[in-house]
This record gives sequence, structure tokens and C-alpha cells, in this order.
Amino acid sequence: MIVEDVRNEPVAAGRRLSAAVRATAELPSARLHFTVPGGADDWLPERGDAFLAALLMPAMSLGEELVVDAPVSARLLRSARTVMEIYAAWWARLREVRLTVGEPVEATRGQDGVGLFFTLGVDSFYSLLGDRERRAEPAHRPVSELLFVNFEQHTGPDYEHLLGRVRLVAGRSGCRAVPVETNLRALTAPLVRWEDYHGAALAATALALQGLLGRCLIAASFEYRHLPPYGSHPVLDHLWSTEALDVVHDGAGATRTQKVARRLARSELALRQLAVCWRGRPGQNCGACEKCLRTMVTLELAGVLGRCGTLPGVLDLERLGSVPMHSADAREAMREVALEARAGGRPELAEAAELAADRHGPLPRAAVTR
Ligand SMILES: [Zn+2]
Repeated sequence: MIVEDVRNEPVAAGRRLSAAVRATAELPSARLHFTVPGGADDWLPERGDAFLAALLMPAMSLGEELVVDAPVSARLLRSARTVMEIYAAWWARLREVRLTVGEPVEATRGQDGVGLFFTLGVDSFYSLLGDRERRAEPAHRPVSELLFVNFEQHTGPDYEHLLGRVRLVAGRSGCRAVPVETNLRALTAPLVRWEDYHGAALAATALALQGLLGRCLIAASFEYRHLPPYGSHPVLDHLWSTEALDVVHDGAGATRTQKVARRLARSELALRQLAVCWRGRPGQNCGACEKCLRTMVTLELAGVLGRCGTLPGVLDLERLGSVPMHSADAREAMREVALEARAGGRPELAEAAELAADRHGPLPRAAVTR
């Protein structure tokens, strides 16, 4: 797989960093791009770091050498070896490959922007609210940029409305909203599973923005006591750092229920803007899928379900008990919520959640395709 012709240029939609990508397999497009509407010229330096992060797993999936004909951070290049070891240990279909770069060059330090990937979901709200709580701490570097990456390449009024909500939260939190358009997910989809890959996709986006960011937070999906192999993970995310950019896995000290109880339940902004479900219209919670219902249980346990403006105010236990579950991860997450409901003195919620988690019987993890 070869990456060449790395360019930072103005386009109608904003400022764009792109590169030509060739592989032995046919790819859905010939160039990979990261485009920032309203971005400044120097936010997207002409380096190969983002492309190395973006294409490492796809190259491993093909079992072919990755050549990046552009300057790449020496630190990132060293860490990429460890990333490959972890990927290969977790996912047997991925093989370690040879890496060749134009030039290992230290990335230029000094950018003071602090990014947080923000989706209006529980995990990213928890990280944002935690950042606000820590503002007074002497060594703290507060989040200044809320990055919203349009991996699904949504367009239209629903998407614009969603972006408006991200901007509103950014404004109320003293941050700037930075939307990013990219064809990364579409380009790599034939070669990788999103669940395994999305951490690298986020890191690649942060690396593209190295002219803006000195630090970037990825909100944790799982908690330290339960860390399955997953694309964004505390052993992985920091390995995408360069001399200029620290990539940080944030918020793995709490379960989803604890995140809601500790921070979101106390934030009117979070309760008014929470978006957890992307099944139908972008950012519009359907209120009926397992993720919506599981989130509703956590809000109910925190005593704030009726105050959440984006989900039904009452939990239908029959609906919860019979909700379709599509993966072993979803079942496990529902089981965890059931345990927390029982511990919180809500056996009726626990029973309905257990019913949902067990309805199809436990599946061995290895047998499940995510
Ligand atoms: Zn839903």
C-alpha cells in the first residue's frame, strides 16, 4: 500500500489535507482526505502521520508493506511497531507488515489546542464535563476544541441540525466546534471492521490536525475493569502520539451508569442535548433500540430520566425486556447495567435488563461477528 502526493490545499468546503493511496486491492477512492470547513491554512501540515495511522490496519489486513512518501514522526514510527503487535495479538487475520516512510522527522511542537472527539453521547459528555471540573487544577490543560468527525459522510438538514447542537454545546462550554469531513471510513470499509479500527480513525484525524492540536482526548467506551480488544483502548490510543501531539484515552474510570450518575445527571446541557443512537436520523435517538433503552436505564437509576429532553421520559419495562440484541458486546453491556440496577435497589429494572441480555442465551465471544 502506497501513500504519496500529500497535499494541503483550499477546497470549496474548507481546508483539505489529502494523499493519493494505492493498494493491491481496489479501494473505493484514489485519495484519502481530511477536510475542515473554516480551517486555517496551518492546521493541516503536509505530513504523513495521519495517513500512517489511517492505513496501518488496512495494510495489515492485506498483508502488504505500507509506504508513506512524506515526513512521519519518528516517535509515531517507533510506536507503530507496538500497535502492530497488539493488533496481531488481538485479531489473528491481521499480520505485521513492513513500514517505509519518506523521512522520520520530529513533529513541530508548540500547538496549544486541546481537542476532544465529541458526539453528544454519554462518553464524550463525561469527558467534557470532567474537563470543566478539572479546570482549576494547576497542571490542567482545558479542552478548547470539540472535534466532530463526519465519518458517515452525512449531509442534509438532519446533519446540519446535529452540527448546530454540537456548536451550541461547544459555545456553552467555552470551546470551539471543529467539524471534520473525511472519506476515511468509506475508503477503508472493505478492509477493516469499524469496531476494531475506529480508534485509529480518530487518532488519524487528530494527527491530520497537528497544526492546531498539542493534545487530544478520545473518550473511553469501556471501563478499566472490563477492557475487551477494541479499536480505542488504553493500551493503544497513546501510541498514536507524536513529539507534538499527545493522544489521550480519557474516562475509563467509570461505567456508563457511573458516567451518567456522576456528571451527566447534573448537567442540564447534557440532558437536553444527549445523542446516543445513530440508527435512524443522525443524532435523533430512536428511543427503542438496546442502546437507547440501556441509556434510559442509567438515567432512571440517576433519577433524571424525566429531565432528559432527547429520550422518552418513561421506561417501558416490557419493551426493555424484549428489545433485540445484535451483539455479544451489547448483551454484556446490558448485563452490566442489570447488575448496577440490582445494586441500586431497582430489581424491576434489573429483571427486565437481564431478560433482554439472556433472551438469546449467552454467545461465546469468539463466535460473534461484530
Ligand atoms: Zn436508538
